[in-house]
Amino acid sequence: MTQPAVDLTIVGSIGIDTIETPAEKREEILGGSVSYACAAASFFTHTGMVGVVGTDFPQAFLDTWKDMNIDLEGLQTVEGKTFRWSGVYEENMDNRTTLSTELNVFETFSPELPEAYRDAPYLFLGNIHPALQLHVLEQVRNPKFILIDTMDLWINIDKEDLTKVIGKCTMLTLNESEAELFTGERTLNKAAKKLLELGPEYVLIKKGGNGSMLFNHEEVFLLHAYPLDHFKDPTGAGDTFAGGLMGALAASGKTDREAIRQAMVYGSIAASFGVEEFSLDRLAKLDRDEIEIRVAEFKEMCRI
Ligand code: AMP
Repeated sequence: MTQPAVDLTIVGSIGIDTIETPAEKREEILGGSVSYACAAASFFTHTGMVGVVGTDFPQAFLDTWKDMNIDLEGLQTVEGKTFRWSGVYEENMDNRTTLSTELNVFETFSPELPEAYRDAPYLFLGNIHPALQLHVLEQVRNPKFILIDTMDLWINIDKEDLTKVIGKCTMLTLNESEAELFTGERTLNKAAKKLLELGPEYVLIKKGGNGSMLFNHEEVFLLHAYPLDHFKDPTGAGDTFAGGLMGALAASGKTDREAIRQAMVYGSIAASFGVEEFSLDRLAKLDRDEIEIRVAEFKEMCRI
């Protein structure tokens, strides 16, 4: 059998972001769910990106991805402007307000997977319209592990398609408030139980700086977040976490609970680096050794 061209396919949004934190404002920087996720995954496995940019997309951003060895065959370039998003963080950096969203070429995006991506054993459906996530599932051939992410917007406007696509995936990831919004349950245990009933084997709830929780029908696994002295920009942390997790899982070749736990540690550490700088700035300078050193330090912190 010939080796598939990529081990992990990731689909999602690509944005040019303007972000304001209490300390700093950065304009027109590289963002989007698939950008963060592919960057994190690229440390561990050969990753293919599926997304759309406009003809205004800067060459420097493409070079950032190329330098990370991300496969760009699934990237579409369409006449027009790239998706743009801007947001502002409050003083505590926990709450964020969206200031503007310009869909531009993202409005008519239809993810089309290159032939070489369709046999990838691992698939990450990043945050895009659930009907488009379903469209991706029609194109892939038997992936052994599918992770799906979403956001409050789709829970509010297309819960039906979202429910359908979640039922076809191995793992669902979402944050605490989205889990509550989806299920109406106030405790994460009850919310996770309801979400597992939709069909995925695992539900992974992200709790920002408080770590994450992995649920399946048998057990719960708790993972702390790596404690940082300082961070600059939490945008995309969830995508970096999920991308790192999927990259590490793909590199292991496994899909069992133990492998998922280990992959979650890598995802969490990738995210801890990602938030140290804006955009992909820190991930672009990062190397695998630094990841391993922080993973070891983190495991020592958690040892009981
Ligand atoms: P997160 O911090 O996980 O919410 O991810 C932030 C990234 O999501 C930013 O880089 C944005 O470009 C992108 N984004 C913002 N709004 C949307 C949206 N409606 N659909 C898809 N991606 C979005």
